[in-house]
Amino acid sequence: MTSTAPHSSTGIKVPLLDLQAQYAPLRTEVLKAVERVFDSQQFLLGSEVKALEEEVARYSQTRHAVGCTSGTDALLLALMALDIKAGDEVVTTPYSFFATASSIVRVGARPVFVDIEANTYNIDVDLIPYAITPRTRAIMPVHLYGQCAEMNELLLISKHYKLPIIEDAAQAIGAEDTQGRRAGAMGAIGCFSFYPTKNLGGAGDGGMLVTNDDALAERLRSLRVHGETVKYHHKFVGINGRLDAIQAAVLRVKLPHLDRWTEQRQANAATYDKLFADANLTDVITLPFARAGVRHIFNQYVIRVPEKRDGLREHLHLNNIGTEVYYPVPLHLQECFRSLGYKAGDFPEAERAAGETLALPVYPELTFAQQCYVVASIARFFEEARP
Ligand SMILES: *Cc1c(COP(=O)(O)O)cnc(C)c1O
Repeated sequence: MTSTAPHSSTGIKVPLLDLQAQYAPLRTEVLKAVERVFDSQQFLLGSEVKALEEEVARYSQTRHAVGCTSGTDALLLALMALDIKAGDEVVTTPYSFFATASSIVRVGARPVFVDIEANTYNIDVDLIPYAITPRTRAIMPVHLYGQCAEMNELLLISKHYKLPIIEDAAQAIGAEDTQGRRAGAMGAIGCFSFYPTKNLGGAGDGGMLVTNDDALAERLRSLRVHGETVKYHHKFVGINGRLDAIQAAVLRVKLPHLDRWTEQRQANAATYDKLFADANLTDVITLPFARAGVRHIFNQYVIRVPEKRDGLREHLHLNNIGTEVYYPVPLHLQECFRSLGYKAGDFPEAERAAGETLALPVYPELTFAQQCYVVASIARFFEEARP
């Protein structure tokens, strides 16, 4: 059973993500920022949040940014701001984090799924027109793993059917489409997450909405404080969706480093591509596909492993290499969405991806030696698996 024998004698460990490595050089600055918030005793919204909103709006090339509690609440607030409710339908992807679909269900609407592209794992825009009905009120693409969905065509569809786009850009802050447009800035509203594992991660939950629409921005600002317009006067029913000042202060320390981290992620992805090709592994695994001309920010580096994905994952685990399966169960097959009436076989590409994809460590601080070790470990697995 050499195939599963741990090779821990090398002493090399490669976690899926190493937040300690990111924190170490920023420690003094982060703690100073947190101290500033404690000294102010202003813990919600306020000047820190306002400053972060301005910085993220500039970074995302939008007129407005509205901080909120999480990426999930950003999606919920976006749907609420567009007045999407019971009886409405929202077209989206079945291959994403749960919140993409659950936010639609939370406002009482129905997610209508459309299968994904086999190469980018993003929504297959060619299939969207077939899913549009008189009840459709919006389209919610996800920029999965840090690469924008095919926005040229999506924007044409949006215009033709007069349907707003809500971009789930939770994994894609700073990503650009083929036209150099930033994630979040192309649709009616873009939604970011600052969950600690995202490329711009906070010290807990946090999220942000971006938009170029003045009226939508105003509505979002009101909806995140219970729909209040004037103190204790509620024009709408909103949610408690305020962003913490501590999160904003920490994120403001990290934002200036985001482009450098992105470049390091891109360099790591390119290194993997080369190492996998040199090791002749591209016949047993499929490398991530980046559409020409896009800025892919590699929140994840996801390979496709048609044969023995779970065996490979176990092998890597035993070799102290962290991996993850995003996402093992497509949304249309989640138990809680059974009443939507979908069944296995409805979205073959999403289902195939769920069974074959594997995310490898790609975080900025990953070293060349670690990457060589990951690739060598994968090569060893397939050598031993060959008859
Ligand atoms: C992380 C994520 C969310 C949710 O963000 P939270 O901040 O964790 O609530 C939504 N959609 C996608 C695609 C995500 O990756």
